[in-house]
Amino acid sequence: MPTRLCDRCGQLIEEGALRYIAKIQVYAAYDPLNVDFEDMTRDHRNEIKEILKRCEDLSEEELMQDVYVDFQFDLCRPCQRFYIKDPLPAADGAGGAG
Ligand SMILES: [Zn+2]
Repeated sequence: MPTRLCDRCGQLIEEGALRYIAKIQVYAAYDPLNVDFEDMTRDHRNEIKEILKRCEDLSEEELMQDVYVDFQFDLCRPCQRFYIKDPLPAADGAGGAG
């Protein structure tokens, strides 16, 4: 019998008990490209070199995380209720009426 723990509070979620799954996807957003003739004929070599240089210091995992990350969490009922009230807590020092 598979037993699960709530990923938020660590409580055991009994077999057959109400369980929630929170899936979070974080991926880079790109606006539609607006390419004109000048863009297509411009020399991009320096820009490409610059991008490759920036990538040199990053691991494959870091590069992947720059583009796409997903998470999946099991939640017990109390944690689901808590989570949906505040799924995106403000970062320290950001926003708020402080
Ligand atoms: Zn919980």
